[in-house]
Amino acid sequence: MRRPRCRLRGCLNCLRLPLVLVVIAVASRARADMVDVPAAAATARRAGLRVLESERVALATDRAERPGDGVEDLPRLFDAAVATWCEHFGITTESLGAWRTFGCLVVDVERFRAAGLLPPEIPPFTNGFCDRNRFWLMDQPNPAYRRHLLLHEGAHAFTLTVRGLATPVWHNEGIAEYLATHRLDERGRFVHTPMPARSADVEQLGRIEQLHDLRATGRIPSLSAVLAAPPAAHHDLPAYAASWAAYAMFARHPRYAAGYSTLERGPLGPDFTARLTATPGFAADRAALDFDAFTDDLDYGYDFARSAIDWSAGPPLEAPAGVRVAAGRGWQNAGLSLAKGRRYALHARGRCTLGTIGDTAIETEPAGIALDWYRGRPLGQLLAAQWIDAPADGGRPRFLVLGTGATATLTAQADGPLYLKLNEPPGSLGDDAGEFAVEVGVAP
Ligand SMILES: [Zn+2]
Repeated sequence: MRRPRCRLRGCLNCLRLPLVLVVIAVASRARADMVDVPAAAATARRAGLRVLESERVALATDRAERPGDGVEDLPRLFDAAVATWCEHFGITTESLGAWRTFGCLVVDVERFRAAGLLPPEIPPFTNGFCDRNRFWLMDQPNPAYRRHLLLHEGAHAFTLTVRGLATPVWHNEGIAEYLATHRLDERGRFVHTPMPARSADVEQLGRIEQLHDLRATGRIPSLSAVLAAPPAAHHDLPAYAASWAAYAMFARHPRYAAGYSTLERGPLGPDFTARLTATPGFAADRAALDFDAFTDDLDYGYDFARSAIDWSAGPPLEAPAGVRVAAGRGWQNAGLSLAKGRRYALHARGRCTLGTIGDTAIETEPAGIALDWYRGRPLGQLLAAQWIDAPADGGRPRFLVLGTGATATLTAQADGPLYLKLNEPPGSLGDDAGEFAVEVGVAP
């Protein structure tokens, strides 16, 4: 079943305008030329608009009051998000001083135009737009998606005016998506979920489904394409999803997270991508592989630490060798290289647990369990694969499963390492235990 599509389009300064120039201009005047929030709020009230206020936002809306629609909670959630954004950049909320934004939650654009709250220099937008510390978002029928849009535009206002952000569009949109992604806990509080654990947490966002679609149809971009994407590309959803994916990888993957965080706490100018790729230890080839592996396996709750891949090529497999495959990890390099076209035999044994249902441990052996399936194969089944740089179907590089289960014979499709893992959603690895013992040898 197809999920509802995200409709985040026409956001920010990213349509039809040379974004970088716009953002540079905006950033340089950002602090000096902030919108006077009390004055804007007073204007809104005079025009008969409702103004909901908190420490960090005054939100004007022409949306009629509807008990239980969550709109009155938005300023409180906005403030909580701002605290998270400060943490992200390693600054205190106190350092913001009186920093505040003016937001417009819009049903009828003409009412805001007539009130002078949507000046003619603001270009038409589909869902949202940000200019310095003020922003607009079109009202949405889905409360979760309304909150997401509010925080997406709010994150732009924050990064533009607090951090003087003028980065390339992948970073600019990636960080807004990343900082906006959240769920509400059982008490209705904001919880930042940069990698959402469940689709129900991010109703109508559809970003992970979008990336699945792009993968399935061979349209998923490479990392270099994402990093070089022009602003004009961001009038469509795939560009937002891909920008978020690149951003999430750099921010969460153990190989990049620390250096990226340090980099992001420095200047956020148009040379950001160049500074990122010049970070000591940054290898463009490996980052490209990491991104392809991430978008290949991406799912709710994706765990970068458990899914990080060792790309090193081990010695060629000549004599039978024993390999341990841990539950709770993504693709594991067997430390042995296969030769393209050669046949190999695998025999696996052992027992692992894949978490529990109630008090009962879910146990699996290399054949997997028919209790549940993931990506067309039994849960917990042992998978043997190789990384294929140029898949026959023309899609991006990815892992190709060549053998499954307790006993398998496979023909190597590339000169390169053998990878093994248990078949399981990447968000479910955290409660696994145990390992399989695998014997690998050249097939007779
Ligand atoms: Zn945006």
